[in-house]
Amino acid sequence: MSYIIQEFPQDKYRFRLYDNVKRLTWQQIQAETGCCALLNLAYFHLTTYAHQAALMIAGKWVHPVTWHEYGICIDQSGTLTVGTEKEAVYDYAIGCPPVVINNVDKGKGEGGRNGWTYTGVKPDGTVVALLCSKDTPEYTATLEAALRARGCTHILRWDGSWSSQGALGPGKAVTPSQRRICRSWLLIYERAGAETPEDKEENMSKYTVCLDPGHGPGTVNGSPDGSYQEHEFAWDMYERVSKLLEARGVHTICTRTEDTKPSLTERAGVANRAGATCFVSLHSNAAGNGGWYDADGLEIYTSAGPETAERNVLAAELLKAFGAAGVALRASTAKHEMYTVLAETDMPAVLIEYGFHTSKTDVPLLLSGDYRDKLATATADGVCKWLGVSWADGNEPPAGETDRAIVQRRFNFADETMDYLEAYQYADALLRRLATAD
Ligand SMILES: [Zn+2]
Repeated sequence: MSYIIQEFPQDKYRFRLYDNVKRLTWQQIQAETGCCALLNLAYFHLTTYAHQAALMIAGKWVHPVTWHEYGICIDQSGTLTVGTEKEAVYDYAIGCPPVVINNVDKGKGEGGRNGWTYTGVKPDGTVVALLCSKDTPEYTATLEAALRARGCTHILRWDGSWSSQGALGPGKAVTPSQRRICRSWLLIYERAGAETPEDKEENMSKYTVCLDPGHGPGTVNGSPDGSYQEHEFAWDMYERVSKLLEARGVHTICTRTEDTKPSLTERAGVANRAGATCFVSLHSNAAGNGGWYDADGLEIYTSAGPETAERNVLAAELLKAFGAAGVALRASTAKHEMYTVLAETDMPAVLIEYGFHTSKTDVPLLLSGDYRDKLATATADGVCKWLGVSWADGNEPPAGETDRAIVQRRFNFADETMDYLEAYQYADALLRRLATAD
């Protein structure tokens, strides 16, 4: 199934609209508001980020009515109905035509195969929410049929299209297909006293670390004697590091599965679409032209200076952690190279070469489970230090560092441009920025 659908009976759930002036991701909105589910609405300007159609929030019109269409009306108690702006009393957002009201199609139109968000309302008032990812697109007719099959008599489409994103419960999430941050949102809360849904939301991490185990099956990189393969090492390191980070309350994602070998651009895309906080690529190094070679030790790459840029601050924390763990370092500061995964990721990104698989000194270490544990622990330590996460506090930011500072890090690059159609200008700007300053 290429979409996610969830029913919210109104005796158990209440609704509110949210104006995302702070340009948060859906994960951050959820963390800030405590809502159990949310989906993006419609109508904001891609460049100015301004509202573009009728919207009332908490009794105040934040965009005046300029045309008439059905929308969602929410009263102060959080009860949601479908109506026009005339019924608006507290929260109101205009939907995207065509809409279905009382089982009647109001206007015709097929939006093509795309990612969309929808809400439907059943005669008993139950709200049905639907999220469809741009990555697994569907026709509007298919999605409206899915809502009708659930008994919805009112169906409103929200202009998801290129922006559809949100979550309808744990594990029921859609992340944006590109760097787009949406302005207006429908938030869904559990009503006080309501039963806890079967899979109660876990304590969500504020951070997402994207781990990128290098290469994949079929890659020949390995030691001259055939005892060591880089792709196997990289996958094993991913599993070790991921386990340690998750144990500290830091959410991790991975750019590949054990049996796949995605392109470098696709690896960066995984991190970008997830809005990851940082990106860590896991590799071992090679020197010479076949055969054993003298070069050994660990080194870290980032795309470019200056050393104050967050990617280099992250690299420095990692190098400090490896040094403290007694790992032999080939270089004590980050080296710079415009590797694709470092240049095409939006967030601070590093590539760790844990040692040389062409070195007779390093290969026995890289093959050792104990040494891999040492490397994984130091990797998790360095990342956590940079994030401000400690063993003891789980997910709490350190004293003196606010969430805002961390959020700001994350959007250093991303808030310049949110539009896929501007991707080329974005890439240019990013490269210029990498070349000059933080
Ligand atoms: Zn490699």
